[in-house]
Amino acid sequence: MQLSRIVLALALATALNAAPKPGKRAKNVIVFLADAGGVPTVSAASLHGYGEPQKLFVQSWPHVGLSDTSTASSWVTDSAAGMTAIVTGQKTHNGVISMDASTVRGKQDGKSLKTLLEYAEERGLSTGVVSNVSIADATPAACYGHANDRGKQAELYQQIFTPKFGDGVDIVIGGGRKKIYDDTKKLGKDLDAMAAEHKRPIYASVGAIPASEMRPLALLDDTADVPAMAFAALDRLKKSKKGYFLMVEWDAHTDNPEKGLNNLVNFDKLIREIAGKVDLRDTLLVFTADHSFELRNVGGKRGEPLLKGFDEWQKTHQAREVVTIPALRVGHSHTGEEVLATAMGPGAERVKGFFPNTHLFQVLLGAYGWRADK
Ligand SMILES: [Zn+2]
Repeated sequence: MQLSRIVLALALATALNAAPKPGKRAKNVIVFLADAGGVPTVSAASLHGYGEPQKLFVQSWPHVGLSDTSTASSWVTDSAAGMTAIVTGQKTHNGVISMDASTVRGKQDGKSLKTLLEYAEERGLSTGVVSNVSIADATPAACYGHANDRGKQAELYQQIFTPKFGDGVDIVIGGGRKKIYDDTKKLGKDLDAMAAEHKRPIYASVGAIPASEMRPLALLDDTADVPAMAFAALDRLKKSKKGYFLMVEWDAHTDNPEKGLNNLVNFDKLIREIAGKVDLRDTLLVFTADHSFELRNVGGKRGEPLLKGFDEWQKTHQAREVVTIPALRVGHSHTGEEVLATAMGPGAERVKGFFPNTHLFQVLLGAYGWRADK
């Protein structure tokens, strides 16, 4: 066969392989992670935000399942083990960031587990993580880093500069500026020098990111404007011809129920906005939580604010006490029951029934049409 014919045949084969069946494969995946946003919190957020059940946008999605969040050793998970399961498909122990269950927390590394973000990087996709809490805290760090203890935020952040796959995570926008800089200094290192060495400057605000910067790192003190952070990432990722993986975390812990429920209502609004700006024929959206939380709807009436009595309660109680108002009882613990997982877009149909949180990794990987390494 002539060379030109071989080239043509190869090009055709590649084109056929690359062309996804419409609606079957995802080019892009976005995971929306409501940290501590379990079923009771999702339910209460609708009552709080809309005065009616099931009014959140994510509650209108067609594909719904219940995800078990137990760890390799405990019924109740933290964000580290919870997110590790979702992005690597393996359960590990609390406190461990994307390393397997042979890890001894804080003492001994186990085997590093390849994350979905790393699979995407390996295949040349663009990747991003956004969080309203520290971007080196457990949930975002589990996407791009590996450590035997979630407390090693400075070490985890530095791993951005030394990726094992592709050119590493492209967009990292979130909080934790002071902590990550301080912790890096305690290790005797200079974060800005390291960033300069790798030609990846660290911006202090979303507004400071130049329009021409396609792979921005931003460490913020103020993360009040999560939509601005998310769109700074999404607008850039959408330019990727090969597709992208994006994880957006918005904390929904309800130690302060007003703060937590407002966060979740606003997260849901952001998700609605993002869903309107992506092509749902080639983009899978998944909403889930890493674990549930000790919030219970024990009363309340139609026509009354869900948080009725909370202002008064705050004046006479300590923040660490169990919140008891007519409609809610809120403790301060993560809880072990299943969390909601809901999805739309190509591959969303595999989110159904009861499953372990590790199944979500298979859903995400499978949506792209990829297989896990042996
Ligand atoms: Zn969490």
